[in-house]
Amino acid sequence: MSARILVVDDIPTNVKLLDARLTSEYFDVLTANSGVEALEICANTNVDIILLDVMMPEMDGFEVCKRLKANPATQHIPIIMVTALDQPSDRIKGLEAGADDFLTKPPDDMQLLARVRSLVRLKMLTDELRSRAQTGREIADEQSVLALANINSENGKVLIVDDNERGAQRLLSYLTPKHQVDIITDPASVAMNIEGKDYEVALVSMSMHGFDPLRVCSQFRTLEQTRNLPIILIADEGDRPKVVRGLELGVNDFIVRPIEKYELAARVSTQIKRHRYAIALRESVNNTMAMAVIDDLTGLYNRRYFERHVSLMLERSVNQGRDLALVMLDIDCFKPVNDTHGHSVGDLVLKEFAQRLKSSLRGIDLACRYGGEEFVVLMPDTSQSKAQAVADRVRRCIGDTRFKVSENLSLDITVSIGVALGNQHGDTPDALLKRADMALYRAKNLGRNRVEFDAA
Ligand code: GH3
Ligand code: MG
Ligand code: MG
Repeated sequence: MSARILVVDDIPTNVKLLDARLTSEYFDVLTANSGVEALEICANTNVDIILLDVMMPEMDGFEVCKRLKANPATQHIPIIMVTALDQPSDRIKGLEAGADDFLTKPPDDMQLLARVRSLVRLKMLTDELRSRAQTGREIADEQSVLALANINSENGKVLIVDDNERGAQRLLSYLTPKHQVDIITDPASVAMNIEGKDYEVALVSMSMHGFDPLRVCSQFRTLEQTRNLPIILIADEGDRPKVVRGLELGVNDFIVRPIEKYELAARVSTQIKRHRYAIALRESVNNTMAMAVIDDLTGLYNRRYFERHVSLMLERSVNQGRDLALVMLDIDCFKPVNDTHGHSVGDLVLKEFAQRLKSSLRGIDLACRYGGEEFVVLMPDTSQSKAQAVADRVRRCIGDTRFKVSENLSLDITVSIGVALGNQHGDTPDALLKRADMALYRAKNLGRNRVEFDAA
């Protein structure tokens, strides 16, 4: 997950320290020594995250933050305020100025990286929505335009899982009345108690007696309803090794006790926003104005939309040095399905295929019906190994369970898949498609029901 991070501090040693830490994690780092310089960089360059010192001569961090958040061209860039002292008043001022998160100087590595990664994820979603809204200016993805303007983090649905009632009540008091908060004190009953609740973020305590908090997290990830629910761990200093494991398991963020009210507020807001953006992205297809870009039979984007969108996504991935995976899928031996069972049965198979395809992807991935029984998926910020894993998951999701087209007819359907990575400079959308198509051709020749990679 590469991203461009702007570090702003008037003291060169501080800049150097953060620069070195972030560069060693393969982030692309820009630096500025003053607020004015920071504003200038943001006006001329694409920046993903800003680490902003509060105390600077002339223009302080609050003022820089306010100006960036007041400008439509920069307001979507997440800002982490770096405060010298653990001063709650700085954090209130920071929140009022629009800051998205906080770090205390000198930031420790784990906090720094968790904050940055969490906000990079948020930024990727907003970028994706912005770019769909842009594509939409020509062909109307009105939903994205609306969502971008309206998403905030007010009135969130928050779940606290903690067997210590008092601790849970304290967290609750920090988050109400802004949010609606429920508490579950019996971690074993989580699965039963989340039915139909639509939570937008879960806070999971790491100090529960006789119950592994990571079990709760992995349960959230397994249950259909909470697969994408953002999770924040409430940790103690001593929990660090376990927090690392949690982050690997897909936990989104953590906060260390003693819990500071404003820090918690910022982190909960970020996760709620991220969740709402992700849902808006998923829902952006449901809009009537998007009909011109939606394939009637399958509900996926059509080829026309794909062709406009792929250039934008490719351009962005090249500019930002991020991967973009293009996956091409073609149903195996589909003609005999039509020939044997009729065209309407073929249509049912295509519908079911599209549904299974979508259920195996993330909200940020773009799935399109490219033509007949051919589909393409664009996956931003996806490495070759990740693309392989997803492609193979899709392949199994199609091939492992028969397609039940009517009461007494089930069909074995398989799919062949070609994958290409679009991060080479000078790659045109056509060249990228061609490479995926060649990989697909190879998958067909090697016996179908398999995934092949473009070797280039
Ligand atoms: P391969 O494994 O080589 O891909 O074989 P195939 O039979 O899937 O490929 P071929 O390209 O020969 O045939 C594709 C068939 O898809 C032909 C066409 O009748 C069918 N098809 C295309 N669009 C639709 C559609 O909208 N509905 C239905 N029912 N069938 C369609
Ligand atoms: Mg075909
Ligand atoms: Mg086919």
